[in-house]
Amino acid sequence: MIESTMSASRHWDQEADVVVVGYGGAGAAVAITAHDEGSTVLILEKLPADTPTITRHTPNTRMSAGAWISATDETGAASHFEAMAKLAHETLDEERKEVIRVLAHNLNENEPWMRKLGMEWVDSGPLVELDYPELPGSEFLIVHHAKPSGAWRGGPAIFKKLTENVVQRGITVCWETPALKLIYEAGEVRGVLCVNAGKQISIKARKAVVLTCGGFEFNPWMKENYLRAAPVYFRGNRANTGDGITMALQVGAALWHMNCTSWRAVLKTEDLAFAFPQEPASDVIVDKRGSRFANEKYRGHAFGYDLIGFNSGTLKYPQIPCYWIFDNQRIKIGALAEIYAHCNPPGGVSGPDFYEWSKDNEAELDKGWILKANTLGELARIIANDPDNEGMMTSEVLEETVNKYNQYCRTGNDPEFGRPKDTLVPFSEAPFYAVKLWPGSTSTQGGPKRNTKCQVLRPDNSPIPRLYSAGELGSFWGMLTENGAGLGEAFVSGRIAGANSVLESRWG
Ligand SMILES: Cc1cc2nc3c(=O)[nH]c(=O)nc-3n(C[C@H](O)[C@H](O)[C@H](O)COP(=O)(O)OP(=O)(O)OC[C@H]3O[C@@H](n4cnc5c(N)ncnc54)[C@H](O)[C@@H]3O)c2cc1C
Repeated sequence: MIESTMSASRHWDQEADVVVVGYGGAGAAVAITAHDEGSTVLILEKLPADTPTITRHTPNTRMSAGAWISATDETGAASHFEAMAKLAHETLDEERKEVIRVLAHNLNENEPWMRKLGMEWVDSGPLVELDYPELPGSEFLIVHHAKPSGAWRGGPAIFKKLTENVVQRGITVCWETPALKLIYEAGEVRGVLCVNAGKQISIKARKAVVLTCGGFEFNPWMKENYLRAAPVYFRGNRANTGDGITMALQVGAALWHMNCTSWRAVLKTEDLAFAFPQEPASDVIVDKRGSRFANEKYRGHAFGYDLIGFNSGTLKYPQIPCYWIFDNQRIKIGALAEIYAHCNPPGGVSGPDFYEWSKDNEAELDKGWILKANTLGELARIIANDPDNEGMMTSEVLEETVNKYNQYCRTGNDPEFGRPKDTLVPFSEAPFYAVKLWPGSTSTQGGPKRNTKCQVLRPDNSPIPRLYSAGELGSFWGMLTENGAGLGEAFVSGRIAGANSVLESRWG
């Protein structure tokens, strides 16, 4: 553990009661809560502020689709989360049950809190959009979306409202000020060392530091060492590089949920640093040989787990990459990926990570991101020539797969993978297309372990004095998450961390 001995002589450049590291949804919730409880708050943010024409501050919260979950009955919601944990073979001891109970209780508070901030939303209705509607307690959960206002929708609409609340309260945000290290003195966290305008500066936290600096989506070493497969490509904030994990480890934190992420299949090209999530679709997804391996109408936050099996007999990952295969009917429907990737900033204001997918997919066909052939046999040969396929796909297997699938469409029954009848749309029109898919995600969940007060814990479960965390950095969620759980938790844990951090007495 790094302990500074400079306590008496240290020069503090700035100070506040509560110092929040990272300005996303969780950071905003901490800041608003701590401010409203009477504490002074300073937010440190790694990214620069937007300019009038460019979106530069792109926390995951702002890039998100903007679905957030709340609970209408905490006991019912807790039974749902316990059922999910059981499916994932998680240990449901008293500690875990308490985490679930606190999550469920506070998800119940999400609606009044959002209302207080002036947020308006639309409900998707009971059971709609849930990943696990068949599990007990699903009727007590509800997924909300920010009510679109002009061009503002999804994550940008939510983050706009959070930002307005931060600004109204006069909370200072230090832009382009990445936190480097926690200042740990006399057995407690007393501040943050960060960089501003090329200079290292020390920020004193009189009561507490709250880490809300997101996950490790763009830290290649952490991804390879902690996630269950490689590669895993992310669409998310490129500034989320696991800094909070490193800082927390340096002061003795335990880690949890490092191998958990809500993931699916994504399109990833060489040209762009980020990936495009694929929507569960009415086409087929095949492995490297050309065979289907799952229900393609998959659960949006768990399909990544279907992709990762390593075959120790063949010494291959048969589903990394896999291939989305479809016909001309599908391509005519419209864009294969969300048109406005990254932050869908209203008014066409875009940042450097922005890509606008063409409505007719022609631009992406020209770039070679979508493969095209007049027959399935020819498509299989093109795929087999791709080095990532290792020559595994054959015309025979792909043709047989599509023939069988078309047969299932005719009978309305998919005996292999149980795909819902209304999603069984046959291949009927050449040409045929393929898109390479990888395990991918929007956000990681691992990080420092926290208790139900959002205090960061050591391996012996004792809290590290004056250190809190919130949001996706060390998320409460384990292997399985519900739709809207990332934002739902960012608000919940942000409020909890904010409320508890202000209860600390001021040091010195
Ligand atoms: C494309 C996409 C779609 C999604 N859709 C949904 C959805 O519909 N529903 C849902 O529930 N969840 C969704 N999620 C997940 C959800 O957005 C996240 O779980 C949630 O927003 C996490 O909030 P956060 O505040 O913890 O992290 P973030 O919002 O990512 O904020 C972290 C902040 O910390 C900053 N930071 C990083 N390092 C440092 C440092 N060293 N010093 C200072 N600042 C630092 C970052 O720049 C960033 O601003 C989506 C995510 C993405 C990317």
